[in-house]
Amino acid sequence: MYICPMKNIAVIGAGTMGNGIAHVFAQTGFNVSFIDISQAALDKGLATISKNLDRMVAKGTVTEEQKAQTLANITSTTDLKAGVSVADLVIEAATENVDLKLNIFRQIDEAAPAQAILASNTSSISITKIAAATKRPAQVIGMHFMNPVPVMKLVEVINGYSTHEQVTKVVFEVSKVLGKIPVEVNDYPGFVANRILMPMINEAIYSLFEGVAGVEEIDTVMKLGMAHPMGPLQLADFIGLDVCLSILNVLHDGFGNPKYAPCPLLVNMVMAGNLGAKSGQGFYTYTAGSKELVVAPTFKK
Ligand code: NAD
Repeated sequence: MYICPMKNIAVIGAGTMGNGIAHVFAQTGFNVSFIDISQAALDKGLATISKNLDRMVAKGTVTEEQKAQTLANITSTTDLKAGVSVADLVIEAATENVDLKLNIFRQIDEAAPAQAILASNTSSISITKIAAATKRPAQVIGMHFMNPVPVMKLVEVINGYSTHEQVTKVVFEVSKVLGKIPVEVNDYPGFVANRILMPMINEAIYSLFEGVAGVEEIDTVMKLGMAHPMGPLQLADFIGLDVCLSILNVLHDGFGNPKYAPCPLLVNMVMAGNLGAKSGQGFYTYTAGSKELVVAPTFKK
């Protein structure tokens, strides 16, 4: 199969992950078409990229000229079909919802050039399922960047059941050009990152639920004892407790193994709207809109 050299990248979704992905591609010199259904999300995404570049300029890792060039490499649009029309690689980073993603992939499949590779940044939705919604399943792959994208080195590259090995090879090369380290995995629930991370977070929540130890004690054991930069309960707050619950449900449904059943405390907290840093309350309390931890842990069984 012929794969064209990459120059034009389309990034769908301008949220937390989309703006980071657009940033690293634009900074590396690719033309980026930045797409969202919401103009406000695009404006916010561009403002975040600009602010993050300012921080890099202040640190001396990027010059003012490089900042200007990076921003000039990005064109934003709310027109999905026009936005992907000349793309060599499309990376979808829209909201984690299976029907929404299937619908987006059907549209991209119609509008993107025939040889384009279509990638999803999904945390947990099956790449094989997404690929089956298109007429080019061999060219569909997972490119799971980590948050924050400009900082984190890993790209978990997920082969769907039908992904062509040449497509994996190209995605590996592109990831390396970005200065990332790609790791190849196959398409099974949670891939590798979340299959290992989420049971650990769930076990931390069970330890709290069963009264083995308190929030700070559990996080301190894992930080000081295992050299984790952040405890699992605080990490769960930053990921979003609703996101953790939905990934655990994917693992539980996908494997049919009770070991992945989400802790009832997690289910209750999500139902109560305590979603972690983004809602201001999770295992810890946060100031509105800030990721700063301000109060000692508060939680109710
Ligand atoms: P987010 O909620 O911050 O952003 C999602 C964006 O998608 C929003 O701006 C929304 O307007 C846009 N969107 C929704 N429907 C759309 C459509 N039809 N067309 C175009 N844009 C649309 O979400 P996020 O945290 O950036 O997550 C995006 C993806 O990345 C998800 O699949 C998520 O699982 C995955 N992911 C997230 C993280 C994380 O830490 N947040 C890490 C790795 C992977």
